[in-house]
Amino acid sequence: MTKQPNKSTDSLGKSRVSLIRCLEYSPEKLLSSLKKSLELINFPLHHYRGKKVLLKPNVMMPKKYGFPANTHPLFVAAVIKIFQEIGAEVVIGESSAGSQAGVTFTSRALKTSGLSEVAEKAGVLLQNFDLADAVKVKVPNPFVSPVVLAKLLFEVDLVVSLPKLKTHTFANIITGAIKNLYGCVPGQIKADYHRRAPRPEEFYTVVCDIYQIIKPGLTIFDGVVAMEGNGPSAGQPRNLGVIIASQDGVAANAVVSQLIGVPPLRVLTTRMCAERSLGQADLEKIEIVGEKLAEVEVKDFKLPQVQVINPGLYRLILRLTQTQPKINHKKCTLCGICADSCPVGAISQVDQKMIIDYNQCIRCFCCAEVCPTQAITPYRRYWIGNWLSQLMLRRW
Ligand code: SF4
Ligand code: SF4
Repeated sequence: MTKQPNKSTDSLGKSRVSLIRCLEYSPEKLLSSLKKSLELINFPLHHYRGKKVLLKPNVMMPKKYGFPANTHPLFVAAVIKIFQEIGAEVVIGESSAGSQAGVTFTSRALKTSGLSEVAEKAGVLLQNFDLADAVKVKVPNPFVSPVVLAKLLFEVDLVVSLPKLKTHTFANIITGAIKNLYGCVPGQIKADYHRRAPRPEEFYTVVCDIYQIIKPGLTIFDGVVAMEGNGPSAGQPRNLGVIIASQDGVAANAVVSQLIGVPPLRVLTTRMCAERSLGQADLEKIEIVGEKLAEVEVKDFKLPQVQVINPGLYRLILRLTQTQPKINHKKCTLCGICADSCPVGAISQVDQKMIIDYNQCIRCFCCAEVCPTQAITPYRRYWIGNWLSQLMLRRW
């Protein structure tokens, strides 16, 4: 999707990844380190003068400013500045996690994490993908097709993925450049995909399909303070002091995993995308510029205890915790605001009633947010689902 000159490799056909030291989240240090990172990978920054650039950080949850489950807001601010300095129009988009517990809390996550403030100060649009228009894209997998993605992705000249360097317990070991794009799927439809593709190989096939559609032109890892242990949310902060950038997200993933002591092909998304020739995962064919990998490698990085969840049980939990919007027809005044605001057109008026088509609904709860009479509320069919949801949210 990214319309950019293809310069992700050097003259030998190798993918190039920069590895730069940056020990703290100070605006000046971040700016100079990020500029150096882009120079070293020959990123054609000036090509984007007057173009539209979408930043996709990882703002997973409503945790306080700087919590290492989320890309640091000052890191995002520095990337915004770099693109604004050359005259690009910058926008940011995200749909956070939470969908497995049957809730959507992107609005809260963007605010609590500090990203809303950063966007406001920089004067850039911050789009909550849960509440924005979406499009359906057909993909060749037997589990989930078409996939629903934020429309904004298809209206920009460049997508920049800004993953947090952190672990992930669901068989992928790291969150990384590829999985970060799962946040381009709006609302609780993310949980549907987990339910329809519960085994790691199935789920990550869907994730790789999404990466293949979006194919970001630039990936920059925030590894200044990483998360080790049981990420993506319950791990501990670890000062690594590094920034990793590449025009090849698969190569960036490979370098990051080697950096924390994981052979690149053990990360499922890296392996699957490399098998599809979406990028380079062979370290022999990756040119690392900046710091030497051997000098930055962390020997004692704590990896996650990989959770092996029975796929049938996982599917059942997701089904039980699922919420959907329910209209109280006594309160509804038929104003139509919900139908106008629904990103997938799932609400229509039939006779004298507003009706939700649950096959279309992505459970973003945008309708509940805009309803002037509070006629729409989240509804969970099974009482045990409320209890399970609380349990899952407590773990976060
Ligand atoms: S926004 Fe609320 S009041 Fe208006 S039509 Fe929808 S449910 Fe009814
Ligand atoms: S019906 Fe409501 S919850 Fe469902 S997709 Fe439309 S706005 Fe979102």
